[in-house]
Amino acid sequence: MIIVLKPDASLEQIDHIIEKVKALGLTPHVSKGSERTIIGVIGPEDILRITPLEVFGGVENVIPVLAPFRLVSREFKKEDSVIDLGKGVKIGGKEVVIMAGPCTIENIDSLFEIAREVKKAGATVLRGGAFKPRSSPYSFQGLGKAGLQMLKQVGNELDLVTVSEVMDSCEVGLVADYVDVLQIGCRNMQNFNLVKEVGATKKPVVLKRGMASTVKDMLMSAEYILSGGNFSVILCERGIRTFEDSTRNTLDISAVPVTKQLSHLPIIIDPSHAAGKWNWVPALSKAAIAAGADGLIIEVHNHPEEAVSDGAQSLIPSKFLDLMGELKAVANSVGRKIS
Ligand code: PEP
Ligand code: MN
Repeated sequence: MIIVLKPDASLEQIDHIIEKVKALGLTPHVSKGSERTIIGVIGPEDILRITPLEVFGGVENVIPVLAPFRLVSREFKKEDSVIDLGKGVKIGGKEVVIMAGPCTIENIDSLFEIAREVKKAGATVLRGGAFKPRSSPYSFQGLGKAGLQMLKQVGNELDLVTVSEVMDSCEVGLVADYVDVLQIGCRNMQNFNLVKEVGATKKPVVLKRGMASTVKDMLMSAEYILSGGNFSVILCERGIRTFEDSTRNTLDISAVPVTKQLSHLPIIIDPSHAAGKWNWVPALSKAAIAAGADGLIIEVHNHPEEAVSDGAQSLIPSKFLDLMGELKAVANSVGRKIS
């Protein structure tokens, strides 16, 4: 932590700050320049974080030296984390993992059909929502436990890893019983009770960035999960709210290199919820892999016109198959691969 003092800070004010820093058990190092004085503080920054030094007389600025997140940071772990999702699928290494499936699980037959198609095209993870965070209370809210049972059955029969959203902290145990990977949706990224509960499990988790959250906010939410003992976190950029209204959300592709620099955790892109329209999904998917994303989560539906949610952004299986061909070429060109 560096405390920058105002040019007119008095000696009394400087002494007062030094006394306060010492009283907290930390060591102040004072550097007097011709213009102003700065105090470098050595010791655990957390102690100073909860002390509002900015309000002390004579203080102009307080600059933290360390990022507020620890366990998720590159300083804590230099190598990329590779997370085992089960069924032979690992994310964070050379392999780019493709997750695909319907927005919402509707019935067992359509889930089977979509799952067969995405598997044939090369996806290794089947997505499908059973608890749906809908903007309207009148929209379909998901099949709940029955949907999870279908997902488990299809995942087991086709040997696909499964991922599904958990919306409520009291349902973490239920969802964890049925799926291989938990998903925390963008609307719940800062639902800290939910995030902590997921941190208490051993399940891998896809943590989606809130639509009005910074990358650092997302890393702080991930820190909750890691600090609870669960290191299997996959970050997910799914677009943020900006003034641009052509797309449903603005895909922040920079989130990929930024998180790669700040954190060892894998990051995937959800091009479907970013684009909002199926025909823009291929371009965003290719850009994501070129930028270094470790995976994609893409909505696919066999009859998008009849889908109960997000039909407009869902690829039909034949388009998904075409896209997979292109994605393999992009992955190869950046030294990655898609099985
Ligand atoms: C979803 O993946 O179906 C979903 C609702 O995503 P998000 O939380 O990113 O809106
Ligand atoms: Mn959706």
